Amino acid sequence: MTIGRYPTPVQRVASLPAGLWIKRDDRTHDVYGGNKVRKLEPILAEARERGARRIVTVGAAGSHHVLATAYFGQQAGLEVEAVLVPQPRSAHAVQILRAGLGLGLRAFPVRSWSAVPVALAARRARGARVVPVGGSSVSGSMAYVDAARELAAQVRGGELPEPDVCVVALGSGGTAAGLAAGLAAEGLATRVVGVCVSEPPWLVTRAARWLMRACARRIGDRCHGNDLGRPPRLDVDGRFLGDGYAYPTEAGDEATALAREHAGIDLDPTYTAKTFASALWFVRARRAERVLYWHTLSSAPMEPLLEGARCPTEEAMDPALRALLFLAPPVVTKLASQTGGS
Ligand SMILES: *Cc1c(COP(=O)(O)O)cnc(C)c1O
Repeated sequence: MTIGRYPTPVQRVASLPAGLWIKRDDRTHDVYGGNKVRKLEPILAEARERGARRIVTVGAAGSHHVLATAYFGQQAGLEVEAVLVPQPRSAHAVQILRAGLGLGLRAFPVRSWSAVPVALAARRARGARVVPVGGSSVSGSMAYVDAARELAAQVRGGELPEPDVCVVALGSGGTAAGLAAGLAAEGLATRVVGVCVSEPPWLVTRAARWLMRACARRIGDRCHGNDLGRPPRLDVDGRFLGDGYAYPTEAGDEATALAREHAGIDLDPTYTAKTFASALWFVRARRAERVLYWHTLSSAPMEPLLEGARCPTEEAMDPALRALLFLAPPVVTKLASQTGGS
């Protein structure tokens, strides 16, 4: 099942001194793009093959994955549910949650990640098929093996030189895992650096490497163990996480301003600001001649998704859902200092 439009373009950022290229996976789809589009293709296809009518997934209140699942799941004729956990508040997160609810997402708020398994089990008992967090099943991750093939073809076609490093966000891990397995299988020497944006980093790292090996095994099965390229490898950059998942950082804010100025792209504080900050570090520290930043955030306009008749205003939202977007301590401090409070 193909949902997105491929190949996505690669863009050279000429105004920065060293070589920086951007893989524009923000452009995978006109209504809602980003990296979840590729991952949902095999996931939704499997759900339909198995005869599912309803799926349930899980994510933070402002999860891109939950919104993408709500939209594309519904397009595939499925009812979509999600168990949602709290995250620090941002204008972007509020929009994502509103848009999902406007699409008819049935949301089940819980107080923390530890409450997720029980909530998911309850939905599964009522017949919903579970889609893992971030769409990072092995099948979902395999979509990024195909994306790596797409990039290898662009390298062979002369659209960009073979990158020394490919810098990509590491959230639930499927994107980086599939890229690492796929680029190795294609025989590219490109080193994949996953920039850790979620917690705890050790678990995120282990999960991503497990997924990478699972993808490598599936590639091996597909080609009967022949022609496997080199062994896959995934490096993790843990320096840009800051206070944690979805907490903004200064380096991220600076990267956001530079991305707008030099590349004309918008970043989000949770994933892409921190990842682009890492890519800029590789460029500035001259740790690599040719850096590819893999852009994973949708650049489709949000307005159409927020204008639907069913899209609630924040005030009209169920208070339990609104409460998922909490004011994080650094934000509270900042607001207090802006208003002259203490
Ligand atoms: C989900 C997401 C990621 C993380 O991808 P994973 O495969 O979960 O690691 C990165 N960037 C954006 C914008 C996302 O929405």
